Amino acid sequence: MPTTVRAYGAASAKAPLEPVAIERRDTGAHDVKIDIQFCGVCHSDIHFTSGDFGPLPVSPLVPGHEIVGVVTEIGEQVTKHAVGDRVGIGCMVNSCRECENCQAGEEQYCLNGHTLVFGNVDRDGSYTQGGYSQMIVANEDFVVRVPASLDPASAAPLLCAGITVYAPLKKWGAGPGKRVAVVGLGGLGHLGVKMAKAMGAQVTVLSRSESKREAALALGADAYAATGDTSTYQQLANTFDIILNTVSAPIDVDAHLGMLRRDGTLANVGVTTEPLAYNPFALMTNGRAVVGSQFGGIRETQEMLDFAAEHQVTADIELISADRINEAYQRVLDSDVRYRFVIDNATLA
Ligand code: NAP
Ligand code: ZN
Ligand code: ZN
Repeated sequence: MPTTVRAYGAASAKAPLEPVAIERRDTGAHDVKIDIQFCGVCHSDIHFTSGDFGPLPVSPLVPGHEIVGVVTEIGEQVTKHAVGDRVGIGCMVNSCRECENCQAGEEQYCLNGHTLVFGNVDRDGSYTQGGYSQMIVANEDFVVRVPASLDPASAAPLLCAGITVYAPLKKWGAGPGKRVAVVGLGGLGHLGVKMAKAMGAQVTVLSRSESKREAALALGADAYAATGDTSTYQQLANTFDIILNTVSAPIDVDAHLGMLRRDGTLANVGVTTEPLAYNPFALMTNGRAVVGSQFGGIRETQEMLDFAAEHQVTADIELISADRINEAYQRVLDSDVRYRFVIDNATLA
């Protein structure tokens, strides 16, 4: 018998989120059942429910992909998790497991399509529903351990924002002697600063205005510049090894490329519905690269959580009750969040 749980969901694109009831499947042989304690609010949730990615595939749609909770039941074949464990779920709950990318542990690039934690058809034919809910049942392979030394509420944003910045920073070589710029100081950006610092890099925050300067330096950034003053681009020409773009809107790609030193990389993780364009000469000069990165595989997500525990990296959060979700969405859109809203899922009871 499926279990009915309380949640917040959107009936259609652009509609405000409202209390809804959804069903969770029984705990299958390879499943774990998780009481959700906390769920982060990522800008991607807002892109989805705003219809930026098209009409909602299911109604209601329950967003939420930065989930931390406690295991309350396991299927008879489960080996990775036990009742009472603190665990997390991020963007994915399934993939084909057979393609070369799944085999390489990069399930986010599954050639047969990964299954997102909400708004996708799972391999049992049902629609997935996300973490703005009391409970979730998921395959054990897509559930990670959340180290006990991390505060569970501030660790929740690691499940998407954390891995999304950790993976490209690591892949493109952030570390001692490297200069990293983080563009956009929001949920992803502030974790980008913390992760890059923990990796040993020298970090500059590039924000639109001067308003976040003090806060950025307090987060550990070594330097700060406002791109609203476009002379910043010239002042920082040929400076960075990695520019991590976390902006949820189009950026001036050429202006950013100009700040990359030889062999530097502009790593895009921000999502826009507009194409990003560059001048080939801006790329050829200094042998620069533009790359993209999508959250991260399960093995690397676990590695990131263990790294976060070792370096005590968690998000700066504002904990909210579930009924404040629409207000939180508006404040994210207004860039009025320092730096991640996290839902206290106990308030769904
Ligand atoms: P967020 O908290 O809203 O932060 C985005 C930041 O971008 C803002 O704080 C702001 O920084 C800057 N910004 C916003 N609007 C802007 C505009 N019109 N022009 C210039 N700068 C603007 O969002 P988030 O949750 O960190 O997510 C950031 C983006 O990453 C979203 O598009 C999200 O969908 C995407 N994302 C991608 C992945 C992936 O796998 N690649 C995973 C998660 C999220 P300043 O105020 O400092 O300028
Ligand atoms: Zn996200
Ligand atoms: Zn696959």
